[in-house]
Amino acid sequence: MSRAQVLLLLLFLASVPGFYWAFGLTQSLRKITTKEFDFTLKKYAALVGIGMFCLHAGYQSVSDNYPKISQHPIDFIGAILCSYLLALSVLSSVNKKSLPVRELLYGALTAGFSGYLLSYFYHIASGAININIDLLTALFAMCIICLTAALAIITMLWLKGYEGKSLNKLKLIFAVEIALGFLASHIAINLSILHSNQFSLNPSDNVANYVSLLMILAPILLFMTTFVIILFYERTVDITQSRLGFQVTQVGTRKTLSYDPLTHLPNRDALNQHLMITAKRCDRNGESMALAYIDLDHFKPVNDQFGHHIGDLLLIEVAKRISNALRNCDYVARAGGDEFIAILSEIENHQNVVTVVQRVVDALREPFIIENNLIEISCSIGISIYPRDGNLEKLKVNADAAMYKAKENGKNQYRFFDAEIEQASDAMQQTRVQLKQAITDRQFKLLFQPKVDALTRTVRGAEVLLRWQHPSKGLLSPSVFIEAAERFGMIEEINEWVMVQACDTIRKAKSLGIDLNLSINLSHQQFRNKHLGEHIKFILENNQVSPEHLILEVSETNAIHHQKKFRDTLRHFKTLGLKVSLDDFGLHPFSLSYLKNLEISEVKLDRTLTQEIAHSEVSFAIVEAIVKLAHALHLNVVAEGVEDEEQRLTLVTIGCDEMQGYLFSRPVEQQFLFDVFGEIQQQSTTKSLF
Ligand code: C2E
Ligand code: CA
Ligand code: CA
Repeated sequence: MSRAQVLLLLLFLASVPGFYWAFGLTQSLRKITTKEFDFTLKKYAALVGIGMFCLHAGYQSVSDNYPKISQHPIDFIGAILCSYLLALSVLSSVNKKSLPVRELLYGALTAGFSGYLLSYFYHIASGAININIDLLTALFAMCIICLTAALAIITMLWLKGYEGKSLNKLKLIFAVEIALGFLASHIAINLSILHSNQFSLNPSDNVANYVSLLMILAPILLFMTTFVIILFYERTVDITQSRLGFQVTQVGTRKTLSYDPLTHLPNRDALNQHLMITAKRCDRNGESMALAYIDLDHFKPVNDQFGHHIGDLLLIEVAKRISNALRNCDYVARAGGDEFIAILSEIENHQNVVTVVQRVVDALREPFIIENNLIEISCSIGISIYPRDGNLEKLKVNADAAMYKAKENGKNQYRFFDAEIEQASDAMQQTRVQLKQAITDRQFKLLFQPKVDALTRTVRGAEVLLRWQHPSKGLLSPSVFIEAAERFGMIEEINEWVMVQACDTIRKAKSLGIDLNLSINLSHQQFRNKHLGEHIKFILENNQVSPEHLILEVSETNAIHHQKKFRDTLRHFKTLGLKVSLDDFGLHPFSLSYLKNLEISEVKLDRTLTQEIAHSEVSFAIVEAIVKLAHALHLNVVAEGVEDEEQRLTLVTIGCDEMQGYLFSRPVEQQFLFDVFGEIQQQSTTKSLF
């Protein structure tokens, strides 16, 4: 072996750890946020670029005999820039979220050109004179660089998502192959660039040596690259469960199946598969992952106020901000509506998760400007950790429960799943199962609380109040189970039953000669149903009850949170002849003037106001103002929760029309209500009944 060949071999051996180290860089890029990603990618490309430039210079100095002192700084800089570009094109292809063949070709060709130019500039910079390029050999050299680049891109991408045990061995094998490719490229380029000082001192058998080495290296490289490409694409197309699989199919044919068309984030199906794979990896490597359930606060009012177009654009922006706040190794999917789920993998401690979720909370707190509209929202995040907080199925339920807790605590924050939430969540799940059973077994019943005339105390009608005859806990008030029924989507079914029973009561009353008016409570969830009005009308017609006999009680909170939609729904109700009462009025700061825009027939003062009225001048003044305004708008005013005579008298002074409360009657069974009405008719008097 000649001295040059020994040096060449030593350089080759030294380059292997260098390429091995480059594999590590792509892996550390995974833990970086999208925001920091560009900068770090460029930084790493510069490092790898310098490394390759030095290796190239080393090879060149071993094989060349012309002067090496640079007299051409511009070409020298050009060569360095080309090696940077070469590294950048490989690294950025590796770190793309998807790699269809088109992208791979683009990355490999860019690397090919920059690699060739690197060598070309280096030749000039180191003093080559009268350069001539042999086109055919140059083309051949380009092919070898492109092959090496493709091999590097694919193996790096592959190893990035590799979940097996032989990571280090594979890294070493591929590092050797890429080092071989680099050497072959170097030889091929040198053979294609002819210059006048090339053979002056060089014996031509040196060239022959290179040619024979190249003849061996090139087919090996070709074979290796083809093999790896085929294996890679076979794996990623067939085994779509693999993380890489998603990345490839993201741009491919499965896009519509796995991706949300609006935000282009993965959808629930894709998320579930990714979750499965990440969990398996955690099991295998003893790692942990976090599932973060991200729910936007105040998104629905935005949709109502600005319309769906702006709502959609906002969701797209939100998806971008969440993606930017996450690290490269994290995964985010749109779970539907205004809900997103992020999977944070490779977490080592609590702080890792806190840093990322806090970044998401902060990112969404910043105002959005969508088509010149300034929109402010926030998000509530619930987090559960795998495997600590349960199996995959429990993970989502627990994160969801934690998210509800974050909302309850005032929104715009994150909350980890803990023992306290676990208890509440278990109780909620239990309620869910029992509620389902209650619907099937018809464990519900209705009570009726009379509404009386404020002055005469005659019964004017009654409010229908739901009760759950629980098999072990006894008679339960709706405050215990309505929230669960709403959350688990059972409220419509329950309220439909209430409505049918109420119709039945009205019909029965009619057969007894009683003209009964009933008030029914609607849940705010029911307002999501666009056909609610028609549906109620249908039930009434089906049960031969005129809408005149029914008042629909809707909580004031509904009016506050969904102003435009609520107004439109009420208008629609009016056209259908349905009457509405604004329940729990005065509970929240609410613009009184907004009342005039609502098609309602009644205002129901909240119990807290009634209770404060006799002792608080402020409450008195508030109620007085409400009553005055309501009367000016020809609305009936009902005070609820009247418990003593003092309250009643004060309310009478203010001019309240009707009252309801324990002073007159607790909620009673249907038969008792009928008896009360019967008494009125018998007495044919307007005197006090209770
Ligand atoms: P709400 O509409 O504000 O109903 C009035 C609540 O105050 C009833 O509680 C009633 O029993 C109670 N109440 C009446 N008078 C007095 C009083 O003088 N003092 C006190 N301290 N309380 C009084 P309930 O029956 O437990 O209902 C709680 C809530 O559940 C209701 O509040 C209503 O929002 C909801 N709800 C009741 N029935 C239904 C239903 O069929 N469907 C839906 N979606 N919600 C219902
Ligand atoms: Ca009510
Ligand atoms: Ca109320």
